[in-house]
Amino acid sequence: MKRQNTKSLITGVIILIVLFPFSLNAQKQNKSIKPTNIILIIGDGMGVTQLYSGLTMNHGTLNLLKFKSVGFSKTNASNDYTTDSGAGGTAIATGHKTYNGAIGVNKDTLPVKSILELAESNGLSTGIAATSSLTDATPASFVAHVKSRYLMEEIAYSYLNSGIDVMIGGGLNYFVKRKDKQYLPAELRKLGYQVVFSADSIGKVTNSKLACFTAPDNNLTMAEGRGDMLARAVQTSLEVLQTNKKGFFLMVEGSLIDKVAHTGQGNMVAQEVIDLDNAIGKALDFAMKNGNTLIIVTADHETGGMSLSGGDYTAGTIDAKFAGMNHTGVMVPVFAYGPGAENFQGIQENTDLFYKMISLFGFETDH
Ligand code: MG
Ligand code: ZN
Repeated sequence: MKRQNTKSLITGVIILIVLFPFSLNAQKQNKSIKPTNIILIIGDGMGVTQLYSGLTMNHGTLNLLKFKSVGFSKTNASNDYTTDSGAGGTAIATGHKTYNGAIGVNKDTLPVKSILELAESNGLSTGIAATSSLTDATPASFVAHVKSRYLMEEIAYSYLNSGIDVMIGGGLNYFVKRKDKQYLPAELRKLGYQVVFSADSIGKVTNSKLACFTAPDNNLTMAEGRGDMLARAVQTSLEVLQTNKKGFFLMVEGSLIDKVAHTGQGNMVAQEVIDLDNAIGKALDFAMKNGNTLIIVTADHETGGMSLSGGDYTAGTIDAKFAGMNHTGVMVPVFAYGPGAENFQGIQENTDLFYKMISLFGFETDH
């Protein structure tokens, strides 16, 4: 009897020793459900069909296939069934449905704080990388508060007050050829930014703050020879931003998917999607190693009512058609990877994305 007791005691101790690390691990995982860093990746105009055209042209594979949390976002503006990138960007950036053309203001034209601004005021580092002009509607929605997306020079000026740590994209003209004659790169230097004027300089970061202007206005399309600027921009942004132990918020935009969909060029849509997916690959590499990074990939709206009536995975060809030349009102996909990813499953409003992100970051908001 005694021997058996000793035996079962020893067995019990062994079981405890074996299981203890697992329970510790489970506690750790529970704790890490909130991410330290969020990378928000927006494909402008990237509906399911745009994505599928990229998947087909890329012979049936994309980095995006590694995302297991999938949902949809409803994109309507406050005043319209279909949204533009101003109202769509503002909804995601600030949690407010607003009118088409608005940038960082609600439907009464009052300024509303963006997640990037909240990240700054909470001590996190922030960044934007885009293939459009940095003053274009999507990136603008994260830093500016103006009644119209066409106020490009005002939007450019907003970057000076944003506190943003890394900005990489086009739009130099709005920072240097201004009606007020101000030369904003000089102001940025005074604020401690390393300022560079070409995509070739993206990797050469020496400061903790970087402003990199890669084009006078929007960057070239992939078809015109943009190259891997966006993937390199993401990699450089992550190198700079990860030095902040409090965390970071990075917004990445594949801006030109929309522009080429407006002109009904299916092959160019697929090329732009593949380029964005390469940038997603850089973000995924980082997130997989880092463990505390949430990546969200979504769109502001669908463009063109794109459909695929045929395609060939082996040849990487598509047969694309467009119902029109404008944005449509259909839901767009939401993919999430990393701690908190499960919150983005199901059907949600575009404004929910903001509230879910700030809740995961633990930020307070007055709206
Ligand atoms: Mg855009
Ligand atoms: Zn558009």
